[in-house]
Amino acid sequence: MMISAFANAKKQIDDVAELLGEDYSNKKRFKIAVELLKKPQRVLTTNLKVKLDTGKTKSFRAFRSQHNNARGPYKGGIRFHPNVSEDEIKALSTWMSIKCAVVDIPYGGAKGGIIFDPKKVSESELQRICRAYAKFLTPHIGAWVDVPAPDVNTGEKEMAWMLETYEEKIGYHSPATFTGKPIALGGSLGRTEATGQGGVFVLESYAKHQGLERDKSTLAVQGFGNVGYWFSKLAEELGYKIVAVSDSSGGLYSSKGLEIDELAELKEKHGSFSNLPRSKNYELITNDKLLTLKADILVPAALENAISVTNAKNVNVKTVLEMANGPTTPEGEKILLRKKINVLPDVLCNAGGVTVSYFEWVQNLHGYQWTKERVNEELKVIITNAFEEIHTVVHQKKISYRKAAYYIAVKRIIDAMMLRGRI
Ligand code: NAD
Repeated sequence: MMISAFANAKKQIDDVAELLGEDYSNKKRFKIAVELLKKPQRVLTTNLKVKLDTGKTKSFRAFRSQHNNARGPYKGGIRFHPNVSEDEIKALSTWMSIKCAVVDIPYGGAKGGIIFDPKKVSESELQRICRAYAKFLTPHIGAWVDVPAPDVNTGEKEMAWMLETYEEKIGYHSPATFTGKPIALGGSLGRTEATGQGGVFVLESYAKHQGLERDKSTLAVQGFGNVGYWFSKLAEELGYKIVAVSDSSGGLYSSKGLEIDELAELKEKHGSFSNLPRSKNYELITNDKLLTLKADILVPAALENAISVTNAKNVNVKTVLEMANGPTTPEGEKILLRKKINVLPDVLCNAGGVTVSYFEWVQNLHGYQWTKERVNEELKVIITNAFEEIHTVVHQKKISYRKAAYYIAVKRIIDAMMLRGRI
């Protein structure tokens, strides 16, 4: 049976509600709030009719789930993938509400998606799909309503087309309605590396509390895309030892530490890690091996469900720092926690991306561009504060980092709903 991602998201809220309920004197009101939080406020669905290059018209199933806007406009990406489903979009929109509340940025959560494989359409068909989707969304989005962004298989190109369609419809400029735009159209400096950078700020705060020394701390990083590369590069620059990295083809290991930019160049030249020539600087390992290497910190930065019941018992680190979305299954996490492995959760570790998206929105609303230094300074403050708050709750309540993050986030959202008199 397929695991429902949305059922998982609802269970996570229920789990933390048991603990959080103690803080609310009016139990009935609290219970109603929890039930509301387990449903998106609105789910928009449609069939986009798009003309193909052949002249025929094809229908594409599209969604936008607007989960909760008690703390600010809905915020969340748009993914193009054959496996997109309403269930997945609803789950992802719930996690966006949680993520924005964890780092305390003034947004609710949303997610959008279209069921199709972008590799199987032409560039002009892709543009027409983006424009049809933006036209469908236009009455339901806006800088103070719902702010979409890129996600799986979308990027600044798609955001530019959608912005153009949206602005044509409304009749004026509104760059703050989309984030993840090209710099020339109001994108923020520092967005490309933001998610990796945010993860490194989490690593630094955690290392300080655990008394970890940078040059003695070994990290294994699964995934070498935007997130894995930037996380590894920025951690290496600070002196951490990256002993292993991988892409979908395989992994590389060196007990002395790998040189990240050298590997990036080799990957560029040879296409994938498994094609790299033999070298004394690294040994080739399998993807499975990377996940069970002995190191201080394992950083899954590729896929969902990378650590599950099948391999969690063999994970051989003291800490898992989740950079991908949902890389540890709930059952896998139970095993890790039993082994006293700390799991620093995705809703904190990869929140650097949405935080710099928030900075992009702020800059657009002011018609002003920040320097990259300012972006990174402000990102550091937000991520470090969020880590400290979670760390305090972990120790006060003797709960996991994930539960502490949910505890803080769900409380923030429920309090906002109550203050608005929605319950
Ligand atoms: P990406 O497509 O740029 O990179 C994914 C990487 O994972 C690639 O290097 C790919 O080769 C590798 N990979 C795929 N299968 C693998 C396997 N079995 N073993 C090892 N490596 C494998 O994607 P990304 O933007 O880096 O995103 C990675 C994760 O981070 C995703 O879960 C994404 O949802 C999450 N995330 C990304 C951002 C962002 O700003 N890009 C923000 C928040 C969360």
